[in-house]
Amino acid sequence: MVADKYAPTDLNIPDNYVQHTLKTTKPLPPVTLRNVWGEINWISVYLLTIPPIVGLYGALTTSLQWRTGLLMFSWYLLTGLGITAGYHRLWAHRSYNAIVPLQIFLAFAGAGAAQGSIRWWSRGHRSHHRYTDTDLDPYNAQRGFFYSHIGWMLLKPRRKIGVADISDLSKSPIVRWQHKHYLPIMTFMAFALPALIAGLGWGDARGGFIYAGVIRLVIVHHSTFCVNSLAHWIGEQPFDDKHTPRDHFLTALVTVGEGYHNFHHQFPMDYRNAIKWHQYDPTKWFIWVNRRIGFASHLKVFPDNEVRKGQLAMQLKRLRRTQDNLTWPSSSNDLPVVTWETFQEQAKRRPLILIAGFIHDVSEFMGEHPGGEHLIRKFVGRDASTAFFGGVYEHSHAAHNLLAMKRVGVLDGGVQVIDDIEKERRIPPSQRLLIARYDELSSGSSSSED
Ligand SMILES: [Zn+2]
Ligand SMILES: [Zn+2]
Repeated sequence: MVADKYAPTDLNIPDNYVQHTLKTTKPLPPVTLRNVWGEINWISVYLLTIPPIVGLYGALTTSLQWRTGLLMFSWYLLTGLGITAGYHRLWAHRSYNAIVPLQIFLAFAGAGAAQGSIRWWSRGHRSHHRYTDTDLDPYNAQRGFFYSHIGWMLLKPRRKIGVADISDLSKSPIVRWQHKHYLPIMTFMAFALPALIAGLGWGDARGGFIYAGVIRLVIVHHSTFCVNSLAHWIGEQPFDDKHTPRDHFLTALVTVGEGYHNFHHQFPMDYRNAIKWHQYDPTKWFIWVNRRIGFASHLKVFPDNEVRKGQLAMQLKRLRRTQDNLTWPSSSNDLPVVTWETFQEQAKRRPLILIAGFIHDVSEFMGEHPGGEHLIRKFVGRDASTAFFGGVYEHSHAAHNLLAMKRVGVLDGGVQVIDDIEKERRIPPSQRLLIARYDELSSGSSSSED
């Protein structure tokens, strides 16, 4: 039926698709030395091994002219952008709209990177985003660096990759046309055109083929592969740490700006990878320039407010770890409640002082008190709150924090009627702003007073 031709492929998947699929479909048996020959994906193996060999032989037998060197670098950028600005951000993620001439340009440029058609590439990439780090992710980073870099292409996949809809791409005449004529377009863009330019331009067809064609292709291949391996391996996770993607300048440098991968996996439809102006993201600059000249429009940007929430959550997580590694004073829930009489009696045997309703044992501190031992001694068995909070000396926050560590009890009835100032005095400065999980807030198990 014609109406069904472009229906989304994931329209009727079960709600628990991932668990359901992983449970009910069996992966192919593991690759062993016995069956390995039947499991090799020969097209990928040829594409990934012949260019490096030909390139090495060519480099040893062909001298590099400076014009050819420039062409090689330009061709690297051109075909690299075809993948990053075209295949990736335009088609796989629809992060902006492009006018037809720009689409045609990117479809040709991307084909020159010899990474399959837009259709095939985007299909896999959408699964990668939807099923990141699971067995339904075609380049699952959990299976190691080598697998996510190149291993996933060399052997037949053990599992069918997770379903992802590409009906929008099936409707695009340019995508369909590129898919249908992929092989001649790829051969022309990857090898013939650079050889032609260098041959007709400055008589170096062989150099054009070897350097701007073959060697450049090997570089572009591994540049893209680094997005699946390196970008899931090294760097920081400033936006989320649920999955493997990471941000690193080095990855950005070798991938034409796709290295801020932690941001990208959190906000995949954003046309940017790097959000700061000084971070290296030439693909973003390319799209931005195209908008300025009217070739691109509807550049998608995730709301800054939501981006910053992600950053804040990660910062709080780090601070929480620091907080958990410190020792905190006992809370009133954990201390014995002592009557005034018992306090008096006990204070005869050891130096106990009452401050803000807490009884403190200062025996180890008396000799070290900067104001002198005598000022503490005269308050043993008495309430020193007024003197401590400015009556004699306005103690520092650090002094208050240290004092709280010497708590041994709570005075019975000594804390019932308190105003706001009194209330604040009961909480050491270091505990007035603590990080608590939502489920700790009402349980009273946090280390602060309540
Ligand atoms: Zn990724
Ligand atoms: Zn992506």
